[in-house]
Amino acid sequence: MLAPLALGAATACTSSADYTDDDAQRLERQRAGEAARSGNGPYGPLRFEGYRGLAKLPWFELDDAGHLRVRTGIPRAIDLHGHLGRGMGLAPAVDLLRATPRVRYELDCDRDNPPCPLDLDVYVNANFTDAMLEELRWDSVRGLILGSRAAQTHTVPNLLAEMEAMGVEQVVVLPIAFNLPFDDDPVLAILDAIEKGGGSGRLVPFASVHPRDARKREKLRDYVARGARGVKLHPEFQRFYPDAPEAMEIYEECGRLGLPVLFHCGRSGIEPEFLRRYALIRRYVGAIEAFPDVRFILGHAGARDVAEAVPLARRSENVWLEISSQGVTSIGEILAAVGERKVVYGTDWPFYPLAVSLAKVLIVTEGRPDARHAILRGNALELLGEAGGR
Ligand SMILES: [Zn+2]
Repeated sequence: MLAPLALGAATACTSSADYTDDDAQRLERQRAGEAARSGNGPYGPLRFEGYRGLAKLPWFELDDAGHLRVRTGIPRAIDLHGHLGRGMGLAPAVDLLRATPRVRYELDCDRDNPPCPLDLDVYVNANFTDAMLEELRWDSVRGLILGSRAAQTHTVPNLLAEMEAMGVEQVVVLPIAFNLPFDDDPVLAILDAIEKGGGSGRLVPFASVHPRDARKREKLRDYVARGARGVKLHPEFQRFYPDAPEAMEIYEECGRLGLPVLFHCGRSGIEPEFLRRYALIRRYVGAIEAFPDVRFILGHAGARDVAEAVPLARRSENVWLEISSQGVTSIGEILAAVGERKVVYGTDWPFYPLAVSLAKVLIVTEGRPDARHAILRGNALELLGEAGGR
């Protein structure tokens, strides 16, 4: 999953119609704006000492071993955005069935003592220091050849154990089809691991195909026959424009099969600059408007381009916003703008623990049980249930 980070060491800064100076400046304004207002929003300062520090919130506690767990009394969540580890390129495959003593998150706050400070009021990747990002890039370079050490901990038993601690009922597992030579089929890998690892019913597999794969339609039909419940597409990592004709063929097939499409959507700001052009919100509009019967879930609610994703979701009946990575004040604004029926919980595990997104939803929905239930559970069940029912 991290391989594309490794490819971005040197990027030329050239303005074109696909990526203008204004596009670049909007991203920098978003970054500066959220840094300036962190802690000044309606929920006040939300800075914690690593992930264990979340035990200060009323919904969490530490167990006898010092691990974070959720208290009872909140809906059992459905997480629409998780991943399992995988060996990339020439690296050996990850043993997805192996339990390890701890999970190495990509933002691994609790690894060090003292843990890294965690601010819930900014886009979550703003918590990476430059040194941490540098380490992440090196790990992804090494990962292409030797396999990432972190990925060895992104396994089915580790995810199931964390779901238990967090009261999470289901996690949707999203593969990404890179179309690399020498690569195993990423969808069959997760279907197989979920079944053999005892995750059936708890881990919900999505499929992924590459828009430039000549066999994409038949692959999709095959994945659905084997249990895939939706499709994940990542325009940046897969290097395609969401409104490209070959991508449209995927949405058409999804319409036929009744599958929701979950897009990585918008710029995270930590990807190589030359990939950002693929995730600009304006490139998603054509797909959403051409296929009103296909349900589109915008991952990360448009990431750092959330200001443009929100009006798109407001005017499109077939769009939902999955809020992993957004800061608390931003989630509050999203909810106010699009309403509780269009917002869904997601975590981007194992980049971050399941608890991070959970904490943010609980803060924003305090005193609003209907909104809490809809975001954590009800909306996702509807999205997944309709797909399975057809
Ligand atoms: Zn993700």
